[in-house]
Amino acid sequence: MKLQNMFKKTNRRNRNAFGESRPEVPEGLLRKCNKCGAAIIAEEVREGNYICPKCQGYFRVHARRRIDMIADPDTFEEWDEELVTCNPLQFRGYEEKVAALQEKTGLREAVVTGRAEIGGEPAVIGVCDGRFLMASMGEAVGEKITRAVERATKEKLPVILFACSGGARMQEGIISLMQMAKTSAALKRHSDAGQLYISVLTDPTTGGVTASFAMLGDIILAEPNALIGFAGPRVIEQTIGEKLPKGFQRSEFLLEHGFIDRIVGREEQKAVLAQILRMHHKNETAAGSENKAVIAGHSRGPQNLENREDHAEGNPQMQVLEKQACPAWESVQISRKKGRPVGIDYISHLFTDFVELHGDRYYKDDPAVVGGLAYFQGIPVTVIAQAKGKSTKENVERNFGMPSPDGYRKSLRLMKQAEKFHRPVICFVDTPGAFCGLEAEERGQGEAIAKNLFELSALKTPILSIIIGEGGSGGALAMAVADEVWMLENSIYSILSPEGFASILWKDSKRADEAAEVMKLTASDLKNMGIIEQIIPEPADYTEGSMDSVCETIKPGIAGFLERYCGMETGELTAKRYGRFRKM
Ligand SMILES: [Zn+2]
Repeated sequence: MKLQNMFKKTNRRNRNAFGESRPEVPEGLLRKCNKCGAAIIAEEVREGNYICPKCQGYFRVHARRRIDMIADPDTFEEWDEELVTCNPLQFRGYEEKVAALQEKTGLREAVVTGRAEIGGEPAVIGVCDGRFLMASMGEAVGEKITRAVERATKEKLPVILFACSGGARMQEGIISLMQMAKTSAALKRHSDAGQLYISVLTDPTTGGVTASFAMLGDIILAEPNALIGFAGPRVIEQTIGEKLPKGFQRSEFLLEHGFIDRIVGREEQKAVLAQILRMHHKNETAAGSENKAVIAGHSRGPQNLENREDHAEGNPQMQVLEKQACPAWESVQISRKKGRPVGIDYISHLFTDFVELHGDRYYKDDPAVVGGLAYFQGIPVTVIAQAKGKSTKENVERNFGMPSPDGYRKSLRLMKQAEKFHRPVICFVDTPGAFCGLEAEERGQGEAIAKNLFELSALKTPILSIIIGEGGSGGALAMAVADEVWMLENSIYSILSPEGFASILWKDSKRADEAAEVMKLTASDLKNMGIIEQIIPEPADYTEGSMDSVCETIKPGIAGFLERYCGMETGELTAKRYGRFRKM
């Protein structure tokens, strides 16, 4: 056979519900990628996670292949394999169509469910198969997913669903629509039982599936460049009479708009899923008895911050630091100094295995707030930092650490997630203030901050906030309604900037230095006033290079904090937090 003929034979194009061409998984020896047109060897594609080796385009993956890619070998146990549709509308030709697809795919329906282990962690998984009527959700798909989720709730297992769907199944009419409510309701019960649900969105995830189980994950991951949306692009174009911009409704677009936590390539999918499962493993939460020993072990010794004052006298290093204490205006300048460690530096120096999670699930992923999951000395925690940049360029991208409402909503989302899984929350505060701008007002900056204060006051998990630079106004407080608030020695915390204070009270922003002195914004002033609990000493000319000594003080401090608060009954914890602010 001539080479051209081989290409000809395989140059089939697969059209989906939206009329877009899609790459197909090659079955023969040689295939042509219909994304880039390059000749590719089927074997290479199979071994390379069904990614085009030339253009890195993602081919769709059959359900069973997907399970092979994700589950540990020989751990998958299929559930409800025999479940099929009863053709509820008696729609003519539907049964024949389903029978033909069953024959072609070797599947009985468009989703495969069951139990598997991923990196040794047990989970219930469900995988849609796009070959089966675009994995539309009829009664059988809805029922299989619902049963899997119900069983996961009963057996206290996490759920992972790989979505790939055209949405509702037209041939089943209103019965198909009801599957959206049914699957969502089962997931609500699973969530209320404190279990983890990870949704993985693959190309395409649309319609009724997007508007139900696909978007309900505690953590939502997506494959690169997957089409994800409620309405199909062609429907939107017809409705608005305009061409859609490039990249519209793709994973990257959703990430930017705050609807997914992360884009995860196939190479790292199994590892990322295993890590997230491990971080939610019940024995590994701070409340677990195993880890209490770990915390206790680390909190011993004279470095414990709580003992700082008792030990300061005998500690020459700390005495020196006390003597160097700066007047307020100097602290203001130091707290803003270029080169001073920023939130991300603390995350990388104090924690391991940081998994950044993105988005507020409403509008945007705000780069002025960085947050996610991590381990602190083997204990899963949620860590959130107001993020200044390290260079001018990065500062512009991160809006100079001034969060938008979306940033506060992201941080609240992550805190509520932490509450669900009983993970302690550790916040790093460093902001000149919440962003003052047109869009911030349009999206409710005040409401976003207020909601944080409201919710944090009663969050049923320990919260520690550490002010590392500027603690500017409500924008800082929104992440500092905590059980304890600590401050770096030269950080500041105030009602507004000294410039703003001088300008409002004396109509002269040049008197900022004078204002700083009267505002009581230094760490030692605030400690004396009972606004904060601890002061963390810092070296002169503090930079990332000299962070180690500071972190050596913070680490046993955090360990001690976790020891004090993680064992507390939630009622006692929230009552204590209420009391902390009630007396101010
Ligand atoms: Zn290609």
